[in-house]
Amino acid sequence: MGDPNLQIKSEWVTDFAGEELQSNIGDMIDTMRHYRGVGLAAPQIGIAKRIIVLEVANNPRYPQADAIALSVLINPQISDFSEQTETAWEGCLSLPGLRGKVSRARSVAYQAVNENGERKQAIVQGFLARIIQHEIDHLDGILYPQRLDDLKQFGFEDSLPDFQL
Ligand code: ZN
Repeated sequence: MGDPNLQIKSEWVTDFAGEELQSNIGDMIDTMRHYRGVGLAAPQIGIAKRIIVLEVANNPRYPQADAIALSVLINPQISDFSEQTETAWEGCLSLPGLRGKVSRARSVAYQAVNENGERKQAIVQGFLARIIQHEIDHLDGILYPQRLDDLKQFGFEDSLPDFQL
């Protein structure tokens, strides 16, 4: 948090054929798994490109979350946000040890391109919708503390009286 690289708008991916894209995606998946994230955006590892990865599998940082298969979303865009919102605790690998309660759309419709260059679109809800909104925010230079409604619900995991997984 505070790093200017996390405050800029990332570039759209235009080269789907080169090795660089696959190498970036591989680095992102390795980093997400190593630090036990449920999602990662390219700018978090210093790559200013519109790529996100996500996966939930027995994650101790989110023990209640249902499993979500590994997914790579290139140039993801949300076309529709539900009016209904949900508030929940979020964390971020770029803000280690911190959590904050953030309100997000309960469901979103998105489009993206996958690692094979294929277009995909879906309507998702709940935790997956939250991860996608959080990660796309990274591509626009936004970190979750900028979305907090109440700064009292932001702090260190060990110190927040109301924080629970
Ligand atoms: Zn994050």
